[in-house]
Amino acid sequence: MNSHLDPEKSNFSSEEIDIEKALRPLSFNDFTGQASVLENLEIFVKAANLRGEALDHTLFHGPPGLGKTTLANILANELEVGIKITSGPVLDKPGDLAGLLTNLDERDILFIDEIHRLSPIVEEYLYSAMEDFKIDIMLESGPNARTVQINLNPFTLVGATTRSGLLTAPMRARFGIQSRLQYYSTELLADIVQRSSSILRVPISMEAAIEIAGRSRGTPRIANALLRRVRDFAQIKGNGSIDIEISKYALKALNVDAHGLDEMDNKILTTIIDKFKGGPVGITTLATAVSDSAETIEEVYEPFLIQQGFIIRTPRGREVTELAYKHLGRVKGNIQGG
Ligand code: ADP
Repeated sequence: MNSHLDPEKSNFSSEEIDIEKALRPLSFNDFTGQASVLENLEIFVKAANLRGEALDHTLFHGPPGLGKTTLANILANELEVGIKITSGPVLDKPGDLAGLLTNLDERDILFIDEIHRLSPIVEEYLYSAMEDFKIDIMLESGPNARTVQINLNPFTLVGATTRSGLLTAPMRARFGIQSRLQYYSTELLADIVQRSSSILRVPISMEAAIEIAGRSRGTPRIANALLRRVRDFAQIKGNGSIDIEISKYALKALNVDAHGLDEMDNKILTTIIDKFKGGPVGITTLATAVSDSAETIEEVYEPFLIQQGFIIRTPRGREVTELAYKHLGRVKGNIQGG
């Protein structure tokens, strides 16, 4: 995957992370799209505020870059509480978690990104914290070791996962609120691109915003990343403002697919066509052929390809559509590469 298209945050430089923060919506009103998710969250937040209680534990799931972390921060702002941020792989000992939990003020949010990657022992430790706001802490070691139970302030755990299928059933059951984020339409992404341009103080035409939005794989993080790259071209090769010509020029130079498909999306499509005669092919067989896990394909790549009409799910497996052949410039029945 090209780095400018990578929806995972880890590939960004620190300057880019700063810009990403500046572009992050801070309130429900700032947040574009996900209307039904937002409508419900607004009610739950108002009710929690009215009662002066902590919001129920909340789980966001959906592909990377759709706004899970953004929503966790918005919840903290709307509840007017503090937020502590960590992630599943970072918390490897119950002691790390205990440190975070005991430092939460009443109604605060603890945000755990990639919550499906918690170790089983940390996950188990989290259960009683979530359920009863109590944890056991080990005092001393060796023969004097003993545990004491301590009470925590009521808090809200907000979990985010791209792989809801990997979450254990007991973990999932402890979230009173569960929201699935959907890919954004081109229109919504164009609004996000325009909002970001005004924050970055770069003029952009409507047409150019739509062009960038249409190639962003339904994902705000990619839309913002492409906008920043197009802005570079506009400043160096153009007059500083983003019009349709400079957008097309930049997107071509950046090798961005007309539909915003990334390398893995295209690999999945060509593999189904070349190795499995267009399908149907079972998900595990396909995963082996493209050297990725079945879960990642099912939860990160496939939803977008299905939504865009490039593949369909049949009882016998995944099949590419006419649109996929057309997109790749292939003719059905002609096998290339083998
Ligand atoms: P996730 O946690 O799902 O991977 P993030 O919340 O980190 O995604 O969002 C990635 C970036 O996309 C954020 O920096 C934010 O600027 C932008 N973004 C996400 N959702 C929206 C939205 N609905 N409106 C505007 N910008 C958004």
